[in-house]
Amino acid sequence: MTRILLTGGRIIDPACGRDSPGDLLIEDDRIAAVGDVGVGAEAGTVLDCAGLLVVPGLIDLHVHLREAPFSENPDDFAETVADGAAAAVAGGFTTVCAMPNTTPPLDSADAVAWYVARAREANLARVLPVGCMTCGRRGRIVANFVAMRDAGACAFSDDGSDVADDEVFEEALREAARIEMPVFCHCENAALAAGGVIHDSPLATALGLPGLSRDAEDVAVARACEAASRTGCRVHIQHVSTEGAVQAVRRAKADGAPVTAEATPHHLTLTVDALAGRNTVFKVNPPLRSAHDTGAVLAAVRDGTIDCLATDHAPHTAEAKARRLGDAAFGMIGLESALGVCATALVETPLMTWPELIQRMTAAPAHVLGLDAGTLAPGARADVTVIDPAARWTIDPGRFASKARNCPFAGREVKGRVVRTLVGGGIVYEAAE
Ligand SMILES: [Zn+2]
Repeated sequence: MTRILLTGGRIIDPACGRDSPGDLLIEDDRIAAVGDVGVGAEAGTVLDCAGLLVVPGLIDLHVHLREAPFSENPDDFAETVADGAAAAVAGGFTTVCAMPNTTPPLDSADAVAWYVARAREANLARVLPVGCMTCGRRGRIVANFVAMRDAGACAFSDDGSDVADDEVFEEALREAARIEMPVFCHCENAALAAGGVIHDSPLATALGLPGLSRDAEDVAVARACEAASRTGCRVHIQHVSTEGAVQAVRRAKADGAPVTAEATPHHLTLTVDALAGRNTVFKVNPPLRSAHDTGAVLAAVRDGTIDCLATDHAPHTAEAKARRLGDAAFGMIGLESALGVCATALVETPLMTWPELIQRMTAAPAHVLGLDAGTLAPGARADVTVIDPAARWTIDPGRFASKARNCPFAGREVKGRVVRTLVGGGIVYEAAE
């Protein structure tokens, strides 16, 4: 039996309401004991965690790992499954959900099975593929959910775009509800968003760029919430960025609709003003909004209207970002900056406590998926992240495990750093120095 004892840390396990100093004993791939572990447990690896936080492995419901099914050459992609999994564990994430908008997309059982096998080869973070809602993400024919579920899909989504046709959207939700699987919605009304580059704002006008309106998101979130109510399908609203979307989610939850939501670190900490210098690293969809929207999203994360944080980690090649703002790719990476950025913006301020932040990154996303993860309870899988809450560091994408460098937080000083990540009882990441 392999034994690892983490001693003297501050153990935070929101799923169990635990926040207390103590030890954590891991035997093989499971949590064996927590708290007062007792003598005799030292027969194995002992890791001194004094001054450190010991928390459940972080869970990210929203990443893009780019590598596509049946591909031969990793150089074809801005990120491979293996690189993405390495970035995940370096950021403290032990489970990530990979979106299906690869080229070609993950819209079949064979594609999902390929992805599962690729993730297993990487043998780092648990990578759970999300299957497409519609064939080819074309929005016309609902994909085969049962076959993809049986191959290992954890949810369904056409992320990157919405399903525009109301009837197809509703049919997809009814099918997902029938097999009790969640649907993840990128809420964007295509007609209202068409051609938009950055948030519809005075800056967009000043830069001569078409705006992405709040309406495009608000209308789509309202539609998704109503459809969740009607069909009973568990609908997860991705990357909420507007005050209107927050209000729609709040109303839907009050009405008892089976709706959950996520927000990204960048929508909590950056506004459209970041684009004043036309730097394409800040181009993302949904776009960075106004300070007013940022405040509404932040308040919703604090009060639990928005259940969890998710990165929307979106790697791009340097070439795809080295274009004019209007032509550059949407998206930014986030796995290796999320913990430091959120700890600094939310805990250090102090808008939230450590247990509240960790809950949004562990138990809450696990609950969205009905996942057997996100806790340190004895018997649980030993997915564990160790954080130094006092460590100050400067975000340097040049040192990231990710293959991509499109990080909007480069050069930012943050406090709070992942120092060790364990997946299934195995140490898969240790910070240098
Ligand atoms: Zn999206």
